[in-house]
Amino acid sequence: MSNSNNHKMEQLLSAYREHLMLYKTELEAIWQADHSDAKWVQDIMGIAHKLNGSGKAYGFVELSQLARELEQACEAAQNLTQKKIISGLSSPLYALLNALERDSVAKNAGASPNHNSANTLQTNDICDAVDILLVDDDPNFSKSLSEVLSQYGYRVHCQDDINQLDQAIADHEPVALIVDMDFSGKRFAGANQVSIWRQKNGAPLPVFFVSGYDSFDLRLASVRAGGTHYLRKPLDIPKLVSLLNSELNLAPSEPYRVMLVDDDYDLLSLYGAFLTNAGYNVTSATSAQDALRLLEHSHPELILIDVYMPGCSGIELGKIIRQHEEFATIPLLFMSAAADTDMQLACARLANDEFINKPIELWRLLMVVKSRVKRGRYLRSHLGTSTIAETQTVHDPLTALPMLASMRRDIEEALQHRASDNLMAVVKIDIRDFHTINNLHGHYFGDEILQRIAWELTQHINQSDTLYRESGDEFLLLTTGHKSQILVEQYINDTVNSIENTKITSKHGIMALSADIGVAFATKDISSAGELLDNADIAVFKAKKSTTPEICYFDDTLKTVQKKRFFLEHAIKKGLATDQFVTVYQPIYTVNENKLVGFEALARWQHPEKGLLCPGEFIPLMEERGLIPLLTHQMLTQSLSQFAAWHRQHPYLFLSLNLTAKDIQKPIFLKHLASLLAQYQLNPERIVLEITESLLLFDWQHARYLLRQLSDLGVRLALDDFGTGYSSLSYLQRIDAAKLKIDRSFIYQWSQTGDARLLQTMVQLGKTMNMSVIAEGVEKREELSFLRQLGCDQYQGFLAAKPMFAEEIEKTQWN
Ligand code: C2E
Ligand code: CA
Ligand code: CA
Repeated sequence: MSNSNNHKMEQLLSAYREHLMLYKTELEAIWQADHSDAKWVQDIMGIAHKLNGSGKAYGFVELSQLARELEQACEAAQNLTQKKIISGLSSPLYALLNALERDSVAKNAGASPNHNSANTLQTNDICDAVDILLVDDDPNFSKSLSEVLSQYGYRVHCQDDINQLDQAIADHEPVALIVDMDFSGKRFAGANQVSIWRQKNGAPLPVFFVSGYDSFDLRLASVRAGGTHYLRKPLDIPKLVSLLNSELNLAPSEPYRVMLVDDDYDLLSLYGAFLTNAGYNVTSATSAQDALRLLEHSHPELILIDVYMPGCSGIELGKIIRQHEEFATIPLLFMSAAADTDMQLACARLANDEFINKPIELWRLLMVVKSRVKRGRYLRSHLGTSTIAETQTVHDPLTALPMLASMRRDIEEALQHRASDNLMAVVKIDIRDFHTINNLHGHYFGDEILQRIAWELTQHINQSDTLYRESGDEFLLLTTGHKSQILVEQYINDTVNSIENTKITSKHGIMALSADIGVAFATKDISSAGELLDNADIAVFKAKKSTTPEICYFDDTLKTVQKKRFFLEHAIKKGLATDQFVTVYQPIYTVNENKLVGFEALARWQHPEKGLLCPGEFIPLMEERGLIPLLTHQMLTQSLSQFAAWHRQHPYLFLSLNLTAKDIQKPIFLKHLASLLAQYQLNPERIVLEITESLLLFDWQHARYLLRQLSDLGVRLALDDFGTGYSSLSYLQRIDAAKLKIDRSFIYQWSQTGDARLLQTMVQLGKTMNMSVIAEGVEKREELSFLRQLGCDQYQGFLAAKPMFAEEIEKTQWN
C-alpha cells in the first residue's frame, strides 16, 4: 500500500477512535438517564448494532463481539420488567464500555492485542508487484518451478515449512500463493494451514494448491481453504502461467464504479477509502435520498446497500431503484445481519439480488465486490450492451481458458499445417439447462459450475489439444492428430463422460451435468476457420434439438437441412410482409357449466402452395431468426381488433395470446399492446399473455422487467404448458400469474394410465396459489368429468372446439 493510502487509513482509524469515545459517552448518558421512556433499550441496541458492524470492519474484533453480546441482551430484554432489563444489560454494557475506553486510545503500532488493523487494512495492490510465495517441502520442485516462473517475470520466494506460512507471507508480501498439499505424508497439511491463516488474517490472495495426489476430499479441502485452483504434479507450466496471469492481471482499463449506501458514516468512509485504494471508483451515500440523487451521475456497476437505515430501509431503496427503468438492471448487494433470514429472503425476492452478512471484513468486501463487478462487465460485454470500451480479453477471466478469437487464429494455423493422414476437428460443447441452473441457484453457483467443467475438461483432453470458452455455457475444443474417425469418436465420448461424471453438490443435493456436442471435421473442402466453426454450430444445433443430450457429427445432409431452413426463412419473411399469417381462436370453457369464457389466439400460416400450416412449422425458425416480434405484432393487431368487436357484446370474455423467449428479451410489443388497448378501449384485465415458466426462468432478469411492465399495463399473465418445465415453487410465487394452464400431456397421461397424481397435484397447486386453472387438450368426455371432480376451473380442447377462424366462431359459439 502506498504511503498516502496508509496515511488515509491511519486518519480514518484515528477518527474512528474518536467516535468510539463519543459512543461511550452516549451509552453512558442513556444508561444513567431516568428510564421513564421505554425507548432507551432500543437506543442502546441501535448503538450496539452499529458498533458490532463497524468494530469488526475496523479490526476491533473483541469490541465488535462485546457489542454483539449487548445487542443480543437488548433483544432478549424487550418484554421484561424495568428491573430485570437493568440487571440483564448491566454486565454486557459495562464490558462494552470498558472495551470502548480501551480501544478509543491509540496504542503504539501493533501493540494492541485485539486490533489487527495493519492486516485488515491491507489492500491488494497487485498491479505493481509480481512476488509469489511457493510453499513446498520438495526442494527440487521449488527450485525448478521458481526458475521457470522467473522466465515469465515472476519472483518466487520459497518456503519449505508449512508452519512458517504466516511469517513468510508477512515477509514477502506475495500477490499469490502456490502451496503444496502434502507435507511429510500429511496429505491435507497445506489446506489446513491456509485455512488457519485465512481465518486469522485472510487477505484476498489467490491460492494455487499443488499436489501429487488427487481426490474429491483433497479438492474439497482446497475449496474450503479458499483455494483458487488445484493443480496436479507434475505441473502443466503453461497452464499455471496462464492461470496466474489471468488471476493477477485483472486490472480493468477503466476503474469499476461502485456505490455504497449506509447510514453508518464510520463504515461508509472505511469501505469507501478501502475500495478507492484498491482502484475502484466509489460513490458514497448516507441515505436513500442521497443515493437516488447520486445515481443519475455515477452510473454504478454495483450498489451495496445497508438493509437497516432509518427513514427508508435498504429493501425499500432497492425497490425504488428497480422502478427506474435505466437502473433496473444494476446488481444490488444488500448488507444485512446474518441472523436475519427473512430480510435476506426479501432481498432475494426483490431481484436475483444477493446479500452479504454484516459485519464485513475488508478482505471479504473486496472479494465480493470484485467478483460481482468483474462478472457484470464480462456479461455486459458479451451481451453487447457494454458502454465501456474494454480491451479484448484473450483469456476468459472466469475459467482462465483462451477465448474464441484465439481459437480462430489457432484453427487457421492448424489448417495451413494439416497433414493428410491426421484428422482435425472442432468440437462444440454446450451445457444442457445451464441457464436454468444459473437462475435457480444463482450466478455464483453457475460460475462455479463453469469453472468445474473447464477444469474437468482440461484434465481429460489430450496434451496437444486446446479448450476454449466461447461464451456463456459454450466451450470449444480444437483437436488434432487423430489417425481415424473411430478414434476421434472414442476420444469425444470420453470427453463427454468426463462432464457427465462430474457431480456438483449444491444445497439442493447432488446435480449431474450433461452436454450437447457438435463435431465438425476439417475435411479437404474446408478452407477457413469460419467454415469449420459454422459446421460445428450446425451440428450442435441439431444435438440441442433432441430431448436427450446428444453428440452430433456434421455432414452434408445437415447442410441440406440448413439450406431448407434458409428457404423457409425466406418464405416466412415474405409471408410476414404479405399478411399470410392469420389468427385462429380456440374457445375456452368453464369445466362445471361448459360456459364460454374466452379464447386463445393461435397463429396459422396461409401458405400459397402448402395451404394452412400450424405453428410447429414456422415458430421455431422464427424464434431462432428473430422474427417472432413481427409475428407477435401481427397477432396482436389482428386478434385485438377482432376481440374488441366480440368484447362489446360479451364483456366477460378474455383473450389469450402466446409469447416466446424473444418477446421476453425484447418486449417491444408492449407499446403496441398499450396503444391497441387504448384504441379499442379494452379492459386490460381481459387480455391474458401466455408464457411458459421455463422461459421465465431461462431469462429471469428480462422476465422480471417484462412482468412489471405487464402488471403496470394491467393485463394478466398465464403460465402455459405448466408441469413440463422446472415448476420451481419459489419462482411460481414470484411470478404472480392469474392463470395456470396444465399441459395437455398430463391429461393424456391420466387417460392412458389412470394415474391422477400429477394432475391432481397441479390443480391443487394452482388453487393454493389462487390461480384459475385451465386444462389443455381435453379430447374425451371422461377427461372432462374427471377434471370436474378435481375442481379444475376451465378447459380447452378438441372435445369442445378446435381452433377456428373468427367467422366460424361467430357462427358456432353464441347462436
Ligand atoms: P400452446 O400454447 O400449448 O397451444 C395449444 C395447442 O394445443 C394449439 O396448437 C392447439 O391447437 C392445441 N390443442 C388444443 N386443444 C387440443 C386437443 O384437444 N388435442 C390436441 N392434440 N391439441 C390441442 P397449435 O395451434 O398447433 O399451436 C402450437 C403451439 O405454437 C402453441 O402451443 C404455442 O406455443 C405456439 N403458438 C401458437 N400460436 C402462437 C403465436 O401466435 N405466437 C407464439 N409466440 N406462439 C404461438
Ligand atoms: Ca398457449
Ligand atoms: Ca399450452
